[in-house]
Amino acid sequence: MLRLSEIKLPIDHPAEALPAAIVERLGIDKADLLGFTIARRANDARRKSAILMVYSVDVELADEAAILARFAGDPHVRPTPDTEYRFVTQAQPHSPRPVVIGAGPCGLFAGLILAQMGFRPIIVDRGKVVRERTKDTWGLWRRGVLHPESNVQFGEGGAGTFSDGKLYSQIKDPRFLGRKVLTEFVKAGAPPEILTEAHPHIGTFRLVTMVESMRETIQSLGGEYRWQQRVTDFEIAGGKLRGLHLENGDFLEASHVVLAIGHSSRDTFHTLHDRGVHIEAKPFSIGVRIEHPQSWIDRARFGQCAGHPDLGAAAYSLSHHCSNGRSVYSFCMCPGGRVVAAASEPGRVVTNGMSQYSRQEFNANSGLVVGIDPERDYPGHPLAGIALQRRLEEQAFVAGGSNYEAPGQRVGDFLAARPSTALGAVTPSYKPGVHLTDLSSCLPDFAIEALREALPVFGRQIPRYDDPDAMMTGVETRTSSPVRITRGRDFQSLNVAGLYPAGEGAGYAGGILSAAVDGIKVAEAVALSLTA
Ligand SMILES: Cc1cc2nc3c(=O)[nH]c(=O)nc-3n(C[C@H](O)[C@H](O)[C@H](O)COP(=O)(O)OP(=O)(O)OC[C@H]3O[C@@H](n4cnc5c(N)ncnc54)[C@H](O)[C@@H]3O)c2cc1C
Repeated sequence: MLRLSEIKLPIDHPAEALPAAIVERLGIDKADLLGFTIARRANDARRKSAILMVYSVDVELADEAAILARFAGDPHVRPTPDTEYRFVTQAQPHSPRPVVIGAGPCGLFAGLILAQMGFRPIIVDRGKVVRERTKDTWGLWRRGVLHPESNVQFGEGGAGTFSDGKLYSQIKDPRFLGRKVLTEFVKAGAPPEILTEAHPHIGTFRLVTMVESMRETIQSLGGEYRWQQRVTDFEIAGGKLRGLHLENGDFLEASHVVLAIGHSSRDTFHTLHDRGVHIEAKPFSIGVRIEHPQSWIDRARFGQCAGHPDLGAAAYSLSHHCSNGRSVYSFCMCPGGRVVAAASEPGRVVTNGMSQYSRQEFNANSGLVVGIDPERDYPGHPLAGIALQRRLEEQAFVAGGSNYEAPGQRVGDFLAARPSTALGAVTPSYKPGVHLTDLSSCLPDFAIEALREALPVFGRQIPRYDDPDAMMTGVETRTSSPVRITRGRDFQSLNVAGLYPAGEGAGYAGGILSAAVDGIKVAEAVALSLTA
């Protein structure tokens, strides 16, 4: 098979236009095209008056070698890559059972790969199974009741379960491990088009059934889950991990542990630090979530094609370098979604965003965040970033009325440095509710200054982005992990053998896809060590 890329056709092109474009591109007879499949589909909306669909296709030809020779050096005509996943080893009869801490995307894929290799992993999570967890999460959203161990951050599926389920990342992936992730997601019930869409997404309700299906697969291969079992301590002797202490008092003997705890397991970061595990502070970002009617974004991005079924709800990505040396950028943009309460600790308020697969809710939302780093903003201790996050989340809790409502402000009032007292045309979607106030009390001055500078700049890129009635809700503090649990080339902790830091919490991933890919890599390292 050959892969042809950059085949461009006008939106609304008839189906037969694609094979015709392939034949024309290769300069072959129609009869020489034996077959083709779409490998990737994207849209190019840079010219709103002439939006294009851009395809990569895998083609079967009568004389592939001749075509390849004729197009030698052409980056858009090349052999179809071999994306098939191959296991690095298989378990031996008495291989010890590895343990995976965390059932988020990273832990889930580490567990799946280890189970598929026959290692019967034990997966431990402090939270609950996904349907129970959903009830608790809605308890916060509907009744303002936070369950510290069962919420948007903790429980089956991890942080990404209540999300837009965007499945793309910028990671280098020479072994196409991302393809393995997407293929397993489709096996578990994801829509097949995630394998071909340039910017695939799944949406929350589908993610729920998928993690359940993957659990059944792992259990059918001999894997085991332990829910509501927070790992409270690590038994380390002679620089080697001996086992884990669980919340229920059990001791789980273990020589190989995947530590996939996510970016919000602050108590565990403290325990690891106290046990001398090498941890360093890491840059992350803080800010707010901003909302606009999705129709404004669709019109800005797609012009008269706004609402076209092949385009769906428009997304955007913005960034600006400010005169105060800070960068402001859009983070985890959720088209046709809602802002969600993502807190996991009592007395703290945190925002994030989610969408359903249909992306048909009224507003578009995105994090609008400012980059911070240990040197400038939280020097002096590896865990100082956590202390900063907690302080901002507490300020937001108080500014929101100390009942898990979130502080909110109209963009017009924010730019004019005055508190909001009434809503305009945009209704905020955060539940249990938004308390109108002045967000400048919830973030450091440099961040407020940077946001005030960036908004009009973004308003010139996306008309009405800085509309006075656009809404801001705060605070967005869990953009990525504030720490890195350092590991060596063998994926083991720098100073504790047998401990394999992985995923977003350990500072090696950001997002569902990259966390899952990191889970596969770490599982392979564990498997090779267990069979060495
Ligand atoms: C609301 C929201 C929306 C998001 N939307 C997207 C999106 O659309 N696309 C995208 O790519 N990314 C999104 N993200 C980010 C994405 O969810 C994370 O990057 C990803 O989940 C990280 O995976 P992980 O497995 O490393 O950690 P996590 O998913 O955070 O999982 C960690 C797991 O470890 C468990 N755990 C923690 N400590 C312990 C302990 N001591 N003992 C036992 N278990 C423990 C937790 O309960 C949790 O289940 C979103 C995040 C949030 C919060």
